Amino acid sequence: MANIYFIDVTNRDGVQTANLGLSKLEKTMINMYLNEMGVFQSEFGFPTTRHESFYLQANLELAEMGVLKPIRLGGWIRAVVADVEKTFKLVPNIKHLNISISTSDQMIQGKFQDDKSREDVVSMMVDAVEAARAHGAQSIGVNAEDASRTEIGFLVRFGSVAKEHGVDRFRYCDTLGYDNAFTIYESAKTLAEDVGIPIELHCHGDLGMAVANSIAGAKGAIDGGQDAYINTTVNGIGERAGNADLVATVLAVTKSKGFADKYQLGKPIDLTKAWEVSKFASYAFEVPIPMNQPGVGANAFAHSSGIHADGVLKDPENYELYSFNDLGRGEPELVETGREICSGEYSGISGFSHIMGQMEVSFGDARQAEEILELARYANVEAQKPLVEDELLFIAKYPKIVRKLLTLIPPELTHS
Ligand SMILES: [Zn+2]
Repeated sequence: MANIYFIDVTNRDGVQTANLGLSKLEKTMINMYLNEMGVFQSEFGFPTTRHESFYLQANLELAEMGVLKPIRLGGWIRAVVADVEKTFKLVPNIKHLNISISTSDQMIQGKFQDDKSREDVVSMMVDAVEAARAHGAQSIGVNAEDASRTEIGFLVRFGSVAKEHGVDRFRYCDTLGYDNAFTIYESAKTLAEDVGIPIELHCHGDLGMAVANSIAGAKGAIDGGQDAYINTTVNGIGERAGNADLVATVLAVTKSKGFADKYQLGKPIDLTKAWEVSKFASYAFEVPIPMNQPGVGANAFAHSSGIHADGVLKDPENYELYSFNDLGRGEPELVETGREICSGEYSGISGFSHIMGQMEVSFGDARQAEEILELARYANVEAQKPLVEDELLFIAKYPKIVRKLLTLIPPELTHS
């Protein structure tokens, strides 16, 4: 029986969203949380983007050290041979890639402006896949951008050629959130049956159906005999109306009526980390979690009406589908209401020692403390807000990695 896996794209789709961004340390923390949760793969960034190079390399080092393990770290690139070459020049150790190209006539004509045909799209994909293989890529997914507006016969051909060239997965991108649960089910099932490789579902929320479409697409892929890989982002942060929310999608797969009887996770997801990762992403993106967000919203387990409150007190299952404990909620949170010392880019050693002391971190000597403080200052320059406890602990534990991922060296200018 085929299974469902999760590929989180917060560090790619999430950060390319208008008005939003993450520091390189914040992106790293997201990878750490996703790994702890049991997410199969994190699409951790853009290997052709120069300012990502040190961050990507540092995270691959964490993978080699066994810290970011077993999660896979995958890069997103265009299906352009020059981009593949640049990828392996800037990030030589990268092992997993998703290679993307538009497949709909709308995009082929509208983006390439009649310069390209469907067959050109297929051959660009093949050339990019071959180049990535030649550089030693261990796994490759091909992304059909705007798949939901692509004629299904062409999608099957595109996927079949990809399969002939040894591609591991086919990413079906509902780039505009155009599908509904019924249409994506049919498309995913046809692709699974006729192409015969695992199907990724990449859904957007323009019509409010990203989570529903993700599980309908996964059902289609599995009914067609293939594994399904659902793309999500933390808190649903992504282009325009966003992507399928990680926590809500895991809940939908595991808790919705009868679904898990037949459609199961290939790798368990530890939902008790949900609260932590959602809170962190909200803080890092500076986007509040909506009160009514599934699982992690302030009202997700709040009851006030007489009948509901009475019912839930008698038996939580009267009015709750799952428990707050399942999401890692329930611990009281301490909020400082008096004096607060926080980390900043101009912090000094005394305040810093105070903060670290509260977390019971001690340093070997004054020089070591000063080094960690200096890294924390640099991390603050990037984040432009106080670092959270997990970030400070991470800096204290992996200073060399942090030094690398905070390194930004703009290229030489050829015109002055
Ligand atoms: Zn997207």
